[in-house]
Amino acid sequence: MAKYDVVVVGAGNAAFCAAQAAAENGAKVLMVERAPKELMGGNSRFTAGAFRCVYDGVDDLKAIMPDLTKDEIDRSDFGTYTQDKFYDDMFRVTEYRTDGELCDRLVGRSRDTMRWLHAKGMKFDPIWGRQAYLIDGKFKFWGGLTVESKGGGPGLIEQHLKLADKNGIDVRYNTRGLSLIYDGRSVKGLKVKCDGNYEDIECKSVIIACGGFESNAEMRTRYLGPGWELAKVRGTSYNTGDGINMALAIGASSFGNWSGSHAVQWDYNAPEFGDLSVGDNFQKHSYPWGILINATGRRFVDEGADFRNYTYAKYGAVVLRQPNNFAWQVFDGKIVPMLRAEYRIKRVSKVSANTIEEFAHKLEGVNADAFLDEIKKYNAAVKKSNWANTIEEPPFEAYQVGCGVSFTFGGVRIDPDSGQVIDSDMNPIPGLYAAGELVGGIFYFNYPGGSGLMSGAVFGKIAGTGAASGRNA
Ligand SMILES: Cc1cc2nc3c(=O)[nH]c(=O)nc-3n(C[C@H](O)[C@H](O)[C@H](O)COP(=O)(O)OP(=O)(O)OC[C@H]3O[C@@H](n4cnc5c(N)ncnc54)[C@H](O)[C@@H]3O)c2cc1C
Repeated sequence: MAKYDVVVVGAGNAAFCAAQAAAENGAKVLMVERAPKELMGGNSRFTAGAFRCVYDGVDDLKAIMPDLTKDEIDRSDFGTYTQDKFYDDMFRVTEYRTDGELCDRLVGRSRDTMRWLHAKGMKFDPIWGRQAYLIDGKFKFWGGLTVESKGGGPGLIEQHLKLADKNGIDVRYNTRGLSLIYDGRSVKGLKVKCDGNYEDIECKSVIIACGGFESNAEMRTRYLGPGWELAKVRGTSYNTGDGINMALAIGASSFGNWSGSHAVQWDYNAPEFGDLSVGDNFQKHSYPWGILINATGRRFVDEGADFRNYTYAKYGAVVLRQPNNFAWQVFDGKIVPMLRAEYRIKRVSKVSANTIEEFAHKLEGVNADAFLDEIKKYNAAVKKSNWANTIEEPPFEAYQVGCGVSFTFGGVRIDPDSGQVIDSDMNPIPGLYAAGELVGGIFYFNYPGGSGLMSGAVFGKIAGTGAASGRNA
């Protein structure tokens, strides 16, 4: 007889949420994580822990952050992030391609899912540091993103681990899910490789929550397109598409934006994969206040098209398309003191100068004469949608960025109410559920910041509940 009812593949945010929901519904749950314990936690651990969720006012925030003091509330302008606003953001940034039902669950269940996580014991904080500005003595939040897990991504995973332990959920490390045990009718278990040995784990349901294919250079090039093998990976090296491939191998329907990904401007000299000691700090996200220059010395994108939260996830791909796949972010002395904290880390590709001529010759790989001409023209006619600043006051600073891929958008099709994976005849596959990055159909072309963790939590909860009940979609 199977020792476990539900086996969850992966140990990131989506997997933990799925495991918690399954356990809460009476299932005996095992999580299998490919990474060793010290590297577990997937991309979720690399995040800032930001969750995009609906709140109609400060009472909704207090419901998940009861420790907020009166003084903190008085000194903050949290505004609201209504359901309509979240829908609008999803529709706008995905160019109206997000699947209506999946988007509806993501947005419509975000508030309740945050309350559920809080009730489980998860602690949250307002994102004072990165998502608020001090204006007339009050911290004003902007961009719809207000809540982060205590301790950011590392804190999120630490809390998940403690809560899993508390609720009797087993986690096995160094255990890679290889394929589904499938009799042609339903999934009966998971074949794994653990410390060099193959093993069959029987169970009633499997939940795949083991990330996309961003860490697989071959799949990136095949699906995102030529040149994507040259991108750096912002997070874990372990998300190589295993979950998607094992589901497709038994007939799952592929769904969503397979040629799309979340990719940002990332230090050009960052390592091939993420470094947990740096976390997300190789990103450089003050670009709306400066300009971006490529090797030809020219601008190539509207840096201030929208708030950072609504452009950052698509500009990595724009940089990747430039000659030699790099850009320099250029700022002048007016902006330098306002740059985000990630510009002040030790491992940074930066040049500075006090005259624009000297500066131009320091920008490695750039046509200096064309750059000087571009700055002259730009200063004479600053044309950007927002935050147009001339480049004229010393000191001048520039930061070299390439493309850092966070996660891929394509994946498998699920039933939005049970999380069950759907096959290419559009029938549910008994015993197979999915959550997190590998669910296709939610994000297309772009992404509103903080939606990845929210999606993992919402669909993790749905999949865990579905898997525990064994109910067919
Ligand atoms: C640097 C960075 C910063 C980010 N910041 C934010 C943010 O602040 N807010 C936000 O919402 N999103 C953010 N994102 C996106 C976010 O990380 C993802 O949307 C989210 O973490 C995905 O969760 P997941 O559980 O699906 O995948 P993951 O957290 O990546 O978990 C997948 C797990 O599966 C394991 N695994 C892979 N293959 C196998 C296998 N064959 N067998 C067993 N285990 C396997 C991996 O080791 C990993 O632990 C960020 C991403 C990056 C890279």
